[in-house]
Amino acid sequence: MTKAGIVAVVGKPNAGKSTLLNRLVGQKLSITSEKPQSTRDRVVGILTDATTQMVILDTPGLLDPAYALQQAMRGAAIAALDDADVIVHLSDARDGVPPRLVEAAELSREPKGAVIVALNKIDLLSQQDQDALISAVPDAVQLSALTGEGVTQLLDVVRAQLPESPFLYPDDDISTQSVRFFAAELIRETALEQLSEEVPYSIACEIEEFREDRSPVYVRAVVYVERESQKRILIGDKGRRIREIGTVARKKIETLVGTQVYLDLWVKVLQNWRRDVASLRRFGYHLPSSQR
Ligand code: GDP
Ligand code: MG
Repeated sequence: MTKAGIVAVVGKPNAGKSTLLNRLVGQKLSITSEKPQSTRDRVVGILTDATTQMVILDTPGLLDPAYALQQAMRGAAIAALDDADVIVHLSDARDGVPPRLVEAAELSREPKGAVIVALNKIDLLSQQDQDALISAVPDAVQLSALTGEGVTQLLDVVRAQLPESPFLYPDDDISTQSVRFFAAELIRETALEQLSEEVPYSIACEIEEFREDRSPVYVRAVVYVERESQKRILIGDKGRRIREIGTVARKKIETLVGTQVYLDLWVKVLQNWRRDVASLRRFGYHLPSSQR
């Protein structure tokens, strides 16, 4: 009998959720960054072995939403919690004993899935601090998503909680999301890496055309920002910055699709899109539940 189910990875911004998803599926699926709030919607990765299939949901960090995009991000995390058979509540081990998930996520009731407490980034902790933490939270799994330490133990604990079930997806699928989605995310990640302050948070990426029947594969993408001043920053002196972003992003997309890519990259302004429900809908973000 096989086991299968949905595993949601939740926690505060920057806990390492996306790094963990990538580590678990052994592939770069979800964008990661030292800048918080890089993940905006759920990202699905599928991990299958001979007897077990985990459909892993990486989620935006749990935070108090200040505007529509953040409401959408919280909504995506909460929806993943509702869907999950098993919940991995990931926190940064340097923050010490984590609060209970119901409190951390301000949930109105206990989630139905089993909750596993996982303390990440132990590579940054002394052995003494690790020992102190494990005696304070004996049921927690300590791990490093970065080095891979403790990840096998985490998988064992998750597997033990999964229901018996046939596989939910073909055993060679690694995600349910499209190549277009991942290409847009890689462009957004590259822009995030190369920009600072408020601009990264104001970026959205839309793939307008994706022609896999052409050689090289033709991708036309638009990077949206919220203001003219941000557009100037993104384009840079004589277009240098957007060209650099394009070059790096193209290489990442080539790795994704396994062939050469021509990336046609544009920059446009969409005034204050993060606060605008119609724009969020257009970019495919989860809408705040009151506005669906
Ligand atoms: P998320 O917001 O929870 O998805 O966090 P990310 O996966 O984007 O990671 C946030 C930052 O923490 C990135 O700079 C990661 O490289 C770093 N990080 C994640 N896991 C670990 C870890 O186990 N050890 C260390 N040292 N850094 C980590
Ligand atoms: Mg993330």
